[in-house]
Amino acid sequence: MADCQTHEYDVLIIGAGGAGLRAAIAASAEGVSVGLVCKSLLGKAHTVMAEGGVAAALANVDSRDSWSVHFADTMRGGQYLNHWRMAELHALEAPDRVRELEAWGAVMDRTADGRILQRNFGGHKYPRLAHVGDRTGLEMIRTLQDHGIHSGIDVHMETTVLELLTDAGRVGGAFGYQRERGRFVRFAAKAVVIATGGIGRAYKITSNSWEYTGDGQALAYDAGAELIDMEFVQFHPTGMVWPPSVRGILVTEGVRGEGGILTNSEDRRFMFDDIPDLYKLQTADNPDEGWRYVTGDKEARRPPELLTRDHVARCIVREVKEGRGSPHGGVFLDIAWIKEKMGNAEEHIRRKLPSMYHQFKELAGVDITQEPMEVGPTTHYVMGGIRVNPDTQMTRVPGLFAAGEAAGGLHGANRLGGNSLSDLLVFGKRAGEYAANFSRENGKVTLDESNIDRITARALEPIDGGGEGENPYAIQQELQTSMQDLVGIVRIESEMETALDRLAGFGQRAKSTRVPGNREYNPGWHTALDLHNLLVVSEAIARSAIARRESRGAHSRLDYPDKDPDQGKCNTIVHRGDTGEMVVTRVPLPPLRDDLKKIIEDNQ
Ligand SMILES: Cc1cc2nc3c(=O)[nH]c(=O)nc-3n(C[C@H](O)[C@H](O)[C@H](O)COP(=O)(O)OP(=O)(O)OC[C@H]3O[C@@H](n4cnc5c(N)ncnc54)[C@H](O)[C@@H]3O)c2cc1C
Repeated sequence: MADCQTHEYDVLIIGAGGAGLRAAIAASAEGVSVGLVCKSLLGKAHTVMAEGGVAAALANVDSRDSWSVHFADTMRGGQYLNHWRMAELHALEAPDRVRELEAWGAVMDRTADGRILQRNFGGHKYPRLAHVGDRTGLEMIRTLQDHGIHSGIDVHMETTVLELLTDAGRVGGAFGYQRERGRFVRFAAKAVVIATGGIGRAYKITSNSWEYTGDGQALAYDAGAELIDMEFVQFHPTGMVWPPSVRGILVTEGVRGEGGILTNSEDRRFMFDDIPDLYKLQTADNPDEGWRYVTGDKEARRPPELLTRDHVARCIVREVKEGRGSPHGGVFLDIAWIKEKMGNAEEHIRRKLPSMYHQFKELAGVDITQEPMEVGPTTHYVMGGIRVNPDTQMTRVPGLFAAGEAAGGLHGANRLGGNSLSDLLVFGKRAGEYAANFSRENGKVTLDESNIDRITARALEPIDGGGEGENPYAIQQELQTSMQDLVGIVRIESEMETALDRLAGFGQRAKSTRVPGNREYNPGWHTALDLHNLLVVSEAIARSAIARRESRGAHSRLDYPDKDPDQGKCNTIVHRGDTGEMVVTRVPLPPLRDDLKKIIEDNQ
């Protein structure tokens, strides 16, 4: 057997973002041994980048808010493809998870009377996002990390999991390598939680960092789990577009929540031109009402800039395509205009949006208190993911759990801003608890050592294979460009078929990558090893997108521009078939409980 370290835990958690940390804390609280693995340093997971806030119906700013309104908003935002049970648990439990975070030391922005302040965000009927300026994720990860390291969790940083270890269909651990030295490491575990985040690096323009290569989705798929609704990739409407080196970096929705408006080159607030029927009753029909809403007038309706992300992104694309864009291919996002309405606007903007102020000043030479930003859509989040039981978060592979962005089901066809951070807390906790229970009720798995030899031989091929080979960076870039151009914001069958052909070609080339150097901190080698995951998730996205012959939420098809009521009753599922091919099926949505149906009707 290959030379490698071995660690043994009751529960192994892969990923140290909000979901992984919350799962680790929950499992550890159950008294089982917990190992936590992450690709980068502790504290650097994606969650740290979250800006705008965490959604929870605390009703601190508007007493009309409640879990049932949050549930209805989440379902409407997801165009009713969400798993209703996940949406129910999420809305019910998010307030307790946020209060718990506060009790563990998170310092949120405050209302005048000292409660957690909440801000407006797209698709949320009432101000609902607890926040810390525009650095909410930093506070969240700091708090969870501080709490977690006192719970006796073993942390393995800069360690990438390459494959899950299974026996007779049950998960029994994971195998990976330490990035710094290139040494292999084996984890034996009775239960495994995947909390590896998203897939943004499958696209060229993205707000996601280098880590988000869809590892968890691919690990689970390879181990026999299903992926659900992978066609729904969220293109956040506002990423930076200029200069080219920063293209894709996120501009938080908090800017619009604080009153920022979108305009085109003709100085027109184009979002007023296209308000979908589903939101007509809840949306302001004039700028004055929109401003009154963002400044807390409870009688006013929200401005159209705060419609759901899928819709706002499509409107921006339309403005650009029809020649009304900004000089660098975006539109204008203006928060400086609030000077017309507020005496202390400049100070207010710097206090509420410190990161945005800094980001534009440093990276683009733009002072957002004085002038508009240029923004355009950026690949941001994947609504689809590993299919899990809504209560326990277990996949169909016994002992394998998933939570956070890596899991699917909660958000349906489109996620509302702020609903990810609450998702991490609610379902991270659940996954950790149920994984701990599973580990208590089930014995150890006997692992087949020959698997380890197979995995290490495959992993070392790019370094030890000898001869000339493919450059992994070139394949990665071509894949990202293909996904951006052919399976992007607006899709058409013929282009997606072309993408599938190209992906098959990249798959062949990826088998013969070669990188210079040795195993010690070798980013070329790491890129070569990530390719398999990017290929799996890209194929899942393309195949699911071809199968959904309608336009709904974040999935927009030129050849099927309307919603199809029949397809709206099904989720798209992919799994690996017996001969290794990817199989796509449509599965009817679970029937909605009558009391929840009524909540949705009452909140139209
Ligand atoms: C710029 C930005 C701003 C955002 N703002 C908000 C916001 O205001 N509100 C909101 O609700 N959402 C926001 N989001 C979305 C939200 O931050 C993410 O969806 C969420 O943080 C994902 O958390 P997670 O715990 O699922 O995974 P992550 O935080 O992404 O963590 C994943 C972990 O998995 C590890 N990992 C990955 N692959 C492997 C592997 N193979 N082996 C070992 N470890 C691995 C990584 O190292 C990391 O530790 C934002 C996203 C971005 C990019």
